[in-house]
Amino acid sequence: CGIVGFCGDKQAAPILLDGLSKLEYRGYDSAGLAVRDGSAPVQIVKAKGRLKELYAKTNGGQSLVGTCGIGHTRWATHGEPSETNAHPHASADGNVVAVHNGIIENYQELKEKLLHNGYTFYSQTDTEVAVKLIDYYYKKYEHTPTDALSHAMIRMRGSYALAVMFKEYPGEIYVARKDSPMIIGVQDGECYVASDVPAILKYTRKVYYIGNLEMARLANGEVTFYNVDEEVSEKPLTEIKWDA
Ligand code: GLU
Repeated sequence: CGIVGFCGDKQAAPILLDGLSKLEYRGYDSAGLAVRDGSAPVQIVKAKGRLKELYAKTNGGQSLVGTCGIGHTRWATHGEPSETNAHPHASADGNVVAVHNGIIENYQELKEKLLHNGYTFYSQTDTEVAVKLIDYYYKKYEHTPTDALSHAMIRMRGSYALAVMFKEYPGEIYVARKDSPMIIGVQDGECYVASDVPAILKYTRKVYYIGNLEMARLANGEVTFYNVDEEVSEKPLTEIKWDA
């Protein structure tokens, strides 16, 4: 299970595939990418099995054009390993697209609440529930990513490293973390996110550590951190001295 994200000026898909390959040691049963070109709709490609299936399906990433994206290797906890259950997951209108590591323990209760509110589900995953919960709060309240994420964070029990793209916020990635690993890197106007440092070490040595129950906005090479009340917090930038 691994997460990678990139937003900047380069093509995202090759960077995401390369980063995921560095996280293979964590184990996985399927993989997927979501890439976006400006404000165009997000393109999602998923494959069961090894990363080479995803390489083949995207022609090494070349068939996915766009400079903002998220990638995932999945270790199934809820729902069998399959292309449908693989991440990224998306809300029906593509408003919210996300990858997730961890387990949403109360996903059944949240799923029932969402079903009651007219949502339908295509997968067996706890992650699809998280995606649709974020979409629900986005539309119910402020129509901003950090407001939607903070409402969802307060309702979700369990563990998560989430990397999310919102339709109305092109070129930006939002992340949220609780009890699952996630780090953020910056370099020359570009932002990276990953489960672990080796995934991005080829691109940057400048890393931020995001705390528990915190969110961040990645855009234009800058990272803004928020606590669950959406208050901005400052973080030191750490220089990685070791090699992978
Ligand atoms: N619980 C999620 C799922 O089963 C995420 C698993 C993971 O961390 O890869 O899809």
